[in-house]
Amino acid sequence: MPDKRKVYSVEFYPPRSPEGVAKLRAARTELAPLKPAFFSVTFGAGGSTREGTLSTVLEIRDEGLPAAPHISCIGGSRESLRDVLAQYRSHGIRHLVALRGDLPSGAADVGDFRYASDLVGFIRQETGDWFHIDVAAYPEYHPQARSSGDDLTNFVRKVEAGADSAITQYFFNADAYWHFVEACAARGVTVPIVAGIMPILSASGLARFSDNCGAEIPRWIRKKLEGFGDDTASVRAFGLDVVTALCAGLIEDGVPGLHFYTLNSASLTAKIWQRLGL
Ligand SMILES: Cc1cc2nc3c(=O)[nH]c(=O)nc-3n(C[C@H](O)[C@H](O)[C@H](O)COP(=O)(O)OP(=O)(O)OC[C@H]3O[C@@H](n4cnc5c(N)ncnc54)[C@H](O)[C@@H]3O)c2cc1C
Repeated sequence: MPDKRKVYSVEFYPPRSPEGVAKLRAARTELAPLKPAFFSVTFGAGGSTREGTLSTVLEIRDEGLPAAPHISCIGGSRESLRDVLAQYRSHGIRHLVALRGDLPSGAADVGDFRYASDLVGFIRQETGDWFHIDVAAYPEYHPQARSSGDDLTNFVRKVEAGADSAITQYFFNADAYWHFVEACAARGVTVPIVAGIMPILSASGLARFSDNCGAEIPRWIRKKLEGFGDDTASVRAFGLDVVTALCAGLIEDGVPGLHFYTLNSASLTAKIWQRLGL
């Protein structure tokens, strides 16, 4: 029996074309019957997707589904972020995922906030307890972190600044997740740390993504994926087995929830969800 106290959620990005809007609608239609706790929608650096994030969130809510926009602070001013918060608030949005974000290459102006902990502090200062705030966590450590110890300290800062819960970067190595959770507990962190899950849609896409965000693809998985070449069906079938087994193990060991990075494509997330009986 699935444990209803666990939080199972999914993530989308704002579509950039009419085809993308239609694709995302189809993804929502497929995922809605599974009743995710919420659908989150990403936010581009410097507010580049600001309107797209909001309109996607509002469209999801109009369908009667719970939605949480992301907000990122890099490249943004206090004023612009105050506006985004006011906009979210005026629509009755109560749940945010608060991030630093990454500056596009070549951009020099970091804006008024350097780190996500500054953003969380700002949100609390401006809006009190209005929002439930999720922040990002990195079981395999953030690629820019000076050391694992520093990164842990910086994660704790976000919780101390007022985060209510966290969602991790995706990982395939459950030991890294549990090690991180234990290290957080030893530092007095009590907020739930939900595991981010990446279904495997394509081997090359996963490799590219992982290089950028510092999530490790274990050698045996990488080798198997390379061996399938262009055989997408085999990549996905293997990926489904690997990711379902990862999720099943995490649930058995007491993870507080799973957050699926859907990349606006529902089928693999839906299959994993059904296999797990969530
Ligand atoms: C669940 C999830 C959702 C995401 N959604 C989005 C999104 O919608 N839009 C987007 O652009 N990106 C998104 N990202 C990516 C994220 O923005 C990047 O990983 C970014 O590089 C770091 O963001 P952060 O919020 O973790 O930053 P931070 O927590 O600020 O950490 C960034 C780096 O700075 C270091 N650091 C933090 N505080 C300090 C300090 N006081 N002194 C020194 N160093 C410090 C940390 O150790 C880390 O190396 C998401 C990531 C996750 C895991």
